Amino acid sequence: MSIAQQPFNHDIRNRCSHFKSFENSFKTPPRDNTHVADTYNPHYMHMKMDVYSDRVDIAGDISTYAKVTSAQLDTIYLELNQAFSLDSIKLNDVLTTSYTFENSEIFIVLDTPLNQGDDFKINVCYHGAVDGMNLPRYGIYHWYKGIYKSHIAFSMSQPFGARHWFPIRQSLQYKIDSVYQEYTCPTGNMVGSNGVLEHITTNNDSTTTFHWKTRYPMAYYLIAFAVANYMEYNLYAKPTQLQGDSILIQNFIYNDPKCLNFYKDDIDISVDVMELYCEKFGLYPFYKEKYGACLTATYGGMEHQTMSNQPDFSFYLVQHEMAHQWFGNNITCATWSDIWLNEGLATYADFIAKKFLIGDDEAMEDIKGDQNSAMDAINGSVYIPEDEVYYGNKERIFSGVLTYDKGTCLIHQLRYLINNDDTFFGFLQHYTDTFRGQTITTDQFRDALEDYTGLDLHSYFEQWCYGQGYPTYSVACEQGEGGHAHFTITQTTCNTATPFFDLPLEIKVLYANEQGDSTFRMPITANTSYFDIQLPYQVDSVLIDPNHWIINKVGEVSVGIDELQNDLDLVVGPNPAQDYLQVHFKKTNTPMTIDIFDISGQLVQSHCLYQSGQHIDISQLPNAYYLIKATQGQATVSKKIMKI
Ligand SMILES: [Zn+2]
Repeated sequence: MSIAQQPFNHDIRNRCSHFKSFENSFKTPPRDNTHVADTYNPHYMHMKMDVYSDRVDIAGDISTYAKVTSAQLDTIYLELNQAFSLDSIKLNDVLTTSYTFENSEIFIVLDTPLNQGDDFKINVCYHGAVDGMNLPRYGIYHWYKGIYKSHIAFSMSQPFGARHWFPIRQSLQYKIDSVYQEYTCPTGNMVGSNGVLEHITTNNDSTTTFHWKTRYPMAYYLIAFAVANYMEYNLYAKPTQLQGDSILIQNFIYNDPKCLNFYKDDIDISVDVMELYCEKFGLYPFYKEKYGACLTATYGGMEHQTMSNQPDFSFYLVQHEMAHQWFGNNITCATWSDIWLNEGLATYADFIAKKFLIGDDEAMEDIKGDQNSAMDAINGSVYIPEDEVYYGNKERIFSGVLTYDKGTCLIHQLRYLINNDDTFFGFLQHYTDTFRGQTITTDQFRDALEDYTGLDLHSYFEQWCYGQGYPTYSVACEQGEGGHAHFTITQTTCNTATPFFDLPLEIKVLYANEQGDSTFRMPITANTSYFDIQLPYQVDSVLIDPNHWIINKVGEVSVGIDELQNDLDLVVGPNPAQDYLQVHFKKTNTPMTIDIFDISGQLVQSHCLYQSGQHIDISQLPNAYYLIKATQGQATVSKKIMKI
């Protein structure tokens, strides 16, 4: 399917920062990535940068230490926004002029090619101003937060925007082992960044330098800073794994008592969330450094490694960006096609945080919302086809409906398939440990899950992750003598790319006369499946997927009784009906109750008839299927009627 034909719902509900993109996705041609093939891996970066809270100007002095990974390297490739002035390039501390800088790309030609395994150092000095406001969701932004009279400037790189503030080869194929960042700003401001604030230097020229060091592997897009007139508000979490030791939660908020007063209660929840995640996902991956958040501005949050940017401390942002430290930062999608592994898991952490810190009902409301939203996407797969990943197609990569909502529902469905929460959470801990500091593809994730659970998940991933659309289920239940019930479950799908979903389906049977209910998990092996079950009581109604595990729509649900049992001689019609139903029955010496239920089992009308042949007005009911339940004395008969 071509991208231009693909409708996407961009309702992103103020999630991660990259959502509100204004770039025209369809004008940018697919990017030719051949010259960014993985020829070398940066393993250490030393970044020195002059930054200002009241403008986007920067001056950078960036050293990258790297190792050649291709057989030979004769040209070093970097990306940097063309609007910057390039002051100098040094190769192994020697100035070079053998480079080109065009179309935001730097090619440095080597006099002597390097060989696989060789180390080299490249240093780039540059300065200028590239306003992120003109590159929606990229580069460096300046914002003025009037209520706190605070200017702020901050970076945003995901997925292809690092080049708008520092020279880098933007590839997910490597992680940088460690990064040392020195940010110099006018004295009075503070700069937040990745890792540990090693020290602060006061300079002679009314500037201050903040030295941040991180020694955990990090993807290029997670390097970040934010500068403003900040103050620190620090907390400590004590996960059980550290046996009394603690993790620093270092927040940079505006230096105004009003700001702390306003956010304090919300920030304090960070401790509970951190301790919960450590329990459920394994110890915080960067516990030797810190976790934190810088108050920035607008457009949601961004999970920079060990220091998120957040416009506020809403529960959603606190737990979502923190969850990314496990899912996205510790383990990073290997390609942007696999971004659902970052966002689907971090969004499922929303559900987990709500379930364990707030309540089951609130958590279920989240999932139901995600499921409904996921059904907005009839077309498009959760896994993003390679030809849909290119600069300028950020909206597809961060599709709220597919990457986030359907992505998180896929995790919910996997939890349903696993059907054991000890195993589910056990896997998450195994996963965050096994793939620590690495990247992961969708297939690797599937294989790891298969290995851990023993389940065969190939068809699940084919249908739900690489496939498109969702199923609509219909159920017909006919109950005969002795409680024997025959179920017919039919499935249709909304996209021919995926004509069948083989996920088992839960069916809840509610018994007549309030005699309770039973829930069955039916294996689904074909578009029409049949089951015979012995039930203890008469079936009153049937619910499909009552516990909201599966993205699905409900088609037709009917409960009937074998005609031989219809000793009332009930005739209800017409069927389909428009404005009225006429009800005929045999015995006329006893009144008959007619209850009308909608397909969700809700009683919508109730009538008491004293003679056969009476009309019931149904003109006000929405067009749909209804279950007509007739009761006369001890006898009950159900009929399915369609209102058109
Ligand atoms: Zn996110």
